[in-house]
Amino acid sequence: MDVRNDQPQGLITPGQRAEYMRQGNASAVLRAVLAYGPVSRAEIARHTGLSAPSVTKLTSTLIDVGLLGQLAPVEPTQGRPRVPLRVDPDRTAALGLHIGVLRSTFGLVGLDGRVLVERELAHAELADTSPRAIADQAVRGVQSLLDERLGDRRLVGTGVSIGGWVDGARGRVVEHGPLGWRDVPLLDQLAGRLPGPVVLEQTVRAIARAELWFGAGREVDDFALVFIGNVQGAAIVVDRTVHRGPGAAAGGIEHLPVTDDPEVRCPRCGAGCLSAAAGDIALTAQARAAGLLGPAEGTPGGEHGAAGYGLDLERLVAAARPAGSGTGDVRAQDLLRRRARRAGRAVATIVDLLNPSRIVLAGGILVAEEYLDDLRAEVALRSHRGAAVVEDIVPAVFGARTLVRSSAVPALERVITEPFAALGML
Ligand SMILES: [Zn+2]
Repeated sequence: MDVRNDQPQGLITPGQRAEYMRQGNASAVLRAVLAYGPVSRAEIARHTGLSAPSVTKLTSTLIDVGLLGQLAPVEPTQGRPRVPLRVDPDRTAALGLHIGVLRSTFGLVGLDGRVLVERELAHAELADTSPRAIADQAVRGVQSLLDERLGDRRLVGTGVSIGGWVDGARGRVVEHGPLGWRDVPLLDQLAGRLPGPVVLEQTVRAIARAELWFGAGREVDDFALVFIGNVQGAAIVVDRTVHRGPGAAAGGIEHLPVTDDPEVRCPRCGAGCLSAAAGDIALTAQARAAGLLGPAEGTPGGEHGAAGYGLDLERLVAAARPAGSGTGDVRAQDLLRRRARRAGRAVATIVDLLNPSRIVLAGGILVAEEYLDDLRAEVALRSHRGAAVVEDIVPAVFGARTLVRSSAVPALERVITEPFAALGML
């Protein structure tokens, strides 16, 4: 991490080389504070392998530029008092913008991953959901948010996330079925109109990156985030990097077969796949067919983008839960249990293929958390890792309100990995 690969070595002066090394070490300090903070300088030295004098110098620089903050000293029973350090939550922020099917959600996120302010704008206010109309609406909303709420914080950039098939490196939405978009150069339409640099990421990968730095992935270098909700997708993190593959097409798990039930047939793939058997939309359709939900209200299935779970799913879970002296609706319980077990079959395939250190679950599957043990049991049954895998299957730390945070994370990530370059100090 000391010298960037894209720098021809012969063109770097010794002074520049030292600066890049210093930046790599500063990043290691920031990562240690994010993973273990609040931590003392001595603990940072232990976690990073840097010398105590180096840690002292680097932390003092990082405090000066507003990335770290000090808490009140802790008096030990013997020796010198220790000053815990944390990532400064107030002075640096990134803008996060999520473009969903029904609405755009945006806000400011601090360097510690906390959402400072969040707003949303419904697409129903627009004459159409063309990329241009949605981009214009978002730009106007962001501008007034920044005017009112940015204050004297330093803004390090904007992260934009959207569902569907997204090639973030090329700045394009390859396909977004529910919005009817194909090959949209979204980044071109937003860059220059939102605080830069502007980066584009697919929603599930953005959620994985948020978990990587601030949630369930903080202490492991590899994991698979499995999103099962109105959409299904996986993000595979290897060596703390999200794998994309050619065309950024990795993680399309929606048509993994999970049941032989002849009543479940996907209109796209013709099989009993994850989408047709265990997606939120399939589940609530089964519940409606069983007479558990009554007539459809509002928009069935709710928000497709990511973590908006939809009213129907919440009503189904409420019907299944015991209330008062009642035991809950057995049919609703059966549907939720069956969905969890079917989802478990897809997770078992991912476990056997990748053997990640953790499986982090996200999406509507988390709304009925009492059925996650059914999912785990199915994985244990199907995977060759057996029961040992159970403890590695964990829910995402960030629940429903994760869209703004996860959108902003790719913009914050640069501050963590290349702090001096991101702040214009190199
Ligand atoms: Zn299918």
